[in-house]
This record gives sequence, structure tokens and C-alpha cells, in this order.
Amino acid sequence: MKRALLLVDYIHDFVDDDGALTVGKPAQEIHENIERAISRMSKDDLIVLANDSHDWDAPHPEKKLFPPHALVGTRGAETVVAEALEKTAAPVMTVSKMRYSAFCRTGLADMLRSAGVERLYLAGVCTDICVLHTAVEAYNEGFDTVILGDCVASFNPAGHEFAIAHFKNVLGFDVISSTQL
Ligand code: ZN
Repeated sequence: MKRALLLVDYIHDFVDDDGALTVGKPAQEIHENIERAISRMSKDDLIVLANDSHDWDAPHPEKKLFPPHALVGTRGAETVVAEALEKTAAPVMTVSKMRYSAFCRTGLADMLRSAGVERLYLAGVCTDICVLHTAVEAYNEGFDTVILGDCVASFNPAGHEFAIAHFKNVLGFDVISSTQL
């Protein structure tokens, strides 16, 4: 069965202590688990990085809520797990996203279908924002989706718990550990 690991927004601005919009410690604490998930993808699988990517000079709904982050061409917009990705046998592709959901105007759904992906594993930050919006769209697109519960994190513990419950009880997705991959 062809699997895809969809890693949402695991970029410097959301993870590093000095990131522009950092989740902080909770995001840093899942680093090893995400590296484990990456290492368990085979050459027949696929890893997709869905990275936030903004032009802060253009109109955008996030501008009234958040400071500038994930600006195109900056280190803040780059993946935190570059080293692990260099070692993986799985093909890696990056999708630049401009909304919370990795599926929003990125062509991701068609790309996954044409690649023959049969199951999607979701990881990244924040559990209750971009991972949640991506999970809802994966559900609407009909993908067989599993959440890697030890590979998602939020700055907001209550939001994290809400989202985990939503994945299970409303979307019907299994929540498993990276050790089960
Ligand atoms: Zn953003």
C-alpha cells in the first residue's frame, strides 16, 4: 500500500525559539518523533512538506490575526527536518500553501491521487489550526487518513485536545504513534 506522510508547517518560524510565530516547546518536543516517521517511509512511499508561504505585501486574512511569518525566501519558511529528509529513501516534495489547509489551491489532492497514494499520515503544527484544516479537507476529499498523534503539537493545550478528539470522533480518523508506522 502506497503511503504519504504529509508534514504540515514544520518550518523554522513555527518551531524555533526565535521563530516569527512559534509554537515553541511543544513543537520542538515532537522533532524526534517526526524524524522517526520520516525514517519509516520507504522508497515506494511519498513525503509531502506542506509549508506556509506568505507575501506580506499582498492582502491576506491572516494579516489581522498574526505577525508576518513564513515569508517567501526566508529561512523561517524552510523545513526544520532537512537533515532527516536527506537520509530518507522516500521521494520528497514540497507544496507551498497560502491558507491553513494544505489542500487549499495547491493541487495537492490531484497530485496525491495521481501518485497512487492510498493512505495519508498527517503530522506537523499546529494541531488545532493548519493540521485540523488539512484533516478536514482530507476527509472531504475522501482520503484514507491517519493522524500521527505524537507528531502533532500546538501552543494551545486545550486546542490540541479538541483537535485530537475531533479527528477521532467527528472525522473518524485513527490516531496512532510514529512507532506504529
Ligand atoms: Zn500563515
